[in-house]
Amino acid sequence: MKACKGCGVVKPAAEFHRRRANKDGRQRLCKLCHHAANIKWLQDNHDELRLKLKAYHAKHYSKNKAHWKSYSRKYYKENYLKFYEKMVRRKMIKRKAMPVWADKTALRKIYEKAIKRRMAGEDVQIDHVVPLQHKLVCGLHVHYNLRVIHRLKNAEKSNYFKVN
Ligand SMILES: [Zn+2]
Repeated sequence: MKACKGCGVVKPAAEFHRRRANKDGRQRLCKLCHHAANIKWLQDNHDELRLKLKAYHAKHYSKNKAHWKSYSRKYYKENYLKFYEKMVRRKMIKRKAMPVWADKTALRKIYEKAIKRRMAGEDVQIDHVVPLQHKLVCGLHVHYNLRVIHRLKNAEKSNYFKVN
């Protein structure tokens, strides 16, 4: 049992938080007084704390922002091909232009070629020699129907295709 230095009430040791630095291993204030003192301190320092917290968030958020930005950029760069292939495959399946026997490795090589050229600054895209959607012919999404060409050329070609 000991008397609280705050409220003066004599209370059992369990009513005081532990504090190894003190002789009896307990706080000078009882748990209730300690809690009240904590709240008072928070109220007294409210403005200062708020500013500190704000500064902390600003610092760490901006740090994290930069981190996440570079992380997502790196991830995209490393997985660009995967994203692209997935997108194309989905589109082709929808159009029923990609047969099950399509050589996926050969297709991938064409994408890789296009991406390499694009990274080198060339404005290229992948073109279907025989268009996928045409009144008379229907091309397939297979490697021998694909080529890497400049974007402008592809736009000019549009879906104009000579049927011999
Ligand atoms: Zn007390």
